[in-house]
Amino acid sequence: MQTIRARKALGQNFLVDRRVLSRIADLVEIEPGDRVLEIGPGKGALTGLLAKEGVRLVAVELDTRLVPLLREEFGDNPRVEIVHDDILDLDLRKLLASEGDDQRWKVAANLPYNISTPVLFLFLDNRDLFSRLILMLQKEVGDRLAASPGTKEYGILSVLFRLHFDIMRELIVKPGCFHPVPKVDSAVLSFVPLAVPRVNVGDELFFRRLVKGAFSMRRKTLWNCLRGAGLGLSEEGIADALARCQIEPGRRGETLSLDEFASLSRTMLELRGVEGVR
Ligand code: SAM
Repeated sequence: MQTIRARKALGQNFLVDRRVLSRIADLVEIEPGDRVLEIGPGKGALTGLLAKEGVRLVAVELDTRLVPLLREEFGDNPRVEIVHDDILDLDLRKLLASEGDDQRWKVAANLPYNISTPVLFLFLDNRDLFSRLILMLQKEVGDRLAASPGTKEYGILSVLFRLHFDIMRELIVKPGCFHPVPKVDSAVLSFVPLAVPRVNVGDELFFRRLVKGAFSMRRKTLWNCLRGAGLGLSEEGIADALARCQIEPGRRGETLSLDEFASLSRTMLELRGVEGVR
């Protein structure tokens, strides 16, 4: 592929280390008949390893300069489709449903770091479409996803993803494996969506509001965070819910386990029913 100058605004750090590329392709665990979605194929280094025989591959690339080059490179393979679009703008469900059945997709992506959080939420909200995701992320984001309660990395992403995925950190990738060289380490993580949520949270939208509220001010107590979180409960109701779940109001949000968040969510929903939603 001809020389293309990397664009920082598009998060372009191209993976050039052959061993890391093939390790990532192996982690996708591709089998004949699989459907694979790649986000940000760039110059096609990983795409070439994913486009195995019998595999349907859809790759979404935003860079207008790269799309024609990718189409030329993979033009011989009718099962490879290069979609020119912004992954955050397109209707993912519509794109992937166009095959006409509900076979799940595998995902491979060396994500542009500037959009990794919204893309992660896209996967979270459409998790039923996927069987396995292999994502390269900034190491710090990977640490947050896999963090345990009580650590400084533990936050909203850790809780929301643990509810729906088994996550494994598969490898750390050093800056020298990319061109241009980024300033930070990267991590490759595998995500396997759970068939059912790990715990019952009552209502997912309410649960998210609760978790976001609990982490809204990291230096403040849970009590102070939840009072202002718009949970539709009186202060007495919040205090009552915490007491019923045996959670000290003076604790900080980052000390609560997924089970504790889930029981708080269910209890608050129950009390909202009693108080009447505000
Ligand atoms: N997969 C290639 C590799 O590993 O060398 C490129 C990875 S590079 C970190 C990220 C890629 O995502 C770039 O090709 C960039 O143009 C593309 N990209 C950036 N923002 C995007 C978006 N919103 N939608 C789709 N692709 C995007």
